[in-house]
Amino acid sequence: MAPSGTRSTLEEREQRRAAERELAERAVEELRTSAGWQCWLGVRRHFHRYSLRNQILISMQNPGATHVAGFRAWLDLGYAVRKGEKAIRIWMPIPPSRKQLEAWGHDGGAGEKPRTLFKLGSVFDRSQVTELPPPATPSPLDPPIAPLHGYELAHLLVPLTSFAATIGYAVDVRKLGGPEGVCRHRTGEIEVECSLEPNGQIAALLHELAHALVRVDRADGDPQLSYAGEELVVESVAMSVAGILGVDTSANSIPYLTAWSEDTPIATIHAHAALIDRLARRLETVVLATTGSSDPEGTSALRARVAVGRA
Ligand SMILES: [Zn+2]
Repeated sequence: MAPSGTRSTLEEREQRRAAERELAERAVEELRTSAGWQCWLGVRRHFHRYSLRNQILISMQNPGATHVAGFRAWLDLGYAVRKGEKAIRIWMPIPPSRKQLEAWGHDGGAGEKPRTLFKLGSVFDRSQVTELPPPATPSPLDPPIAPLHGYELAHLLVPLTSFAATIGYAVDVRKLGGPEGVCRHRTGEIEVECSLEPNGQIAALLHELAHALVRVDRADGDPQLSYAGEELVVESVAMSVAGILGVDTSANSIPYLTAWSEDTPIATIHAHAALIDRLARRLETVVLATTGSSDPEGTSALRARVAVGRA
């Protein structure tokens, strides 16, 4: 007789695959439209530690989501999920239990090592919770507000310049008199307009660094980028990273997004989204290391406005 655990695991796996396929298809459908894409970007910057798959799931099920956490995690933060709120379903890792690992070790490591499985679990957005009454002290969820004209991000110029050097680009802040930034691949130069205030310089630098990364950080499965496609990827990366720094880019529309239409193949959209996710993570690692931010939702970040106008 087969142990019942094995059978249910197989069934679970089948169910999981079916559910995953369906959710993934619906999620990528959402990205077909510019609104869907904007939505994904908005969610992405709040949840950059989540996998691309989960980011898409969150944006699909709750487009306005800004902070999600599990039921218990909300309690720890001083909030309670309101009665009747519908959970957002995302994939959660279920690592093997100690018992399973011990049993496997007992057999001298014979057979398959117990693996981490994934199952759909529930999280809730901040819009679905209320503050717990005293003596609970709910943690603040909003970042302090700061304008983009400003200096709050000035400290990122040095680490981002160092990062540029590691991928073979020299950064020069000087008078350009036209574009806010330029990336010259042939000579390995990135130039940023010096008359911009520091926050504007950083936003422009992020955009040009993303242009550099598109060339340097190639991987199998990356989409072939047209001019418009590259601008879409690059500006999306810059917007995502800027969002993590608290720069609110939501008021700006990316003109290139109009290139996406109903008949854009799903695979194309998914490949672009995956590329944006990967490149943004590289820059996020640099800026978060500098900010010393340990909060994945960037709640300590600053909020500002960014103007789009880079080449
Ligand atoms: Zn550009």
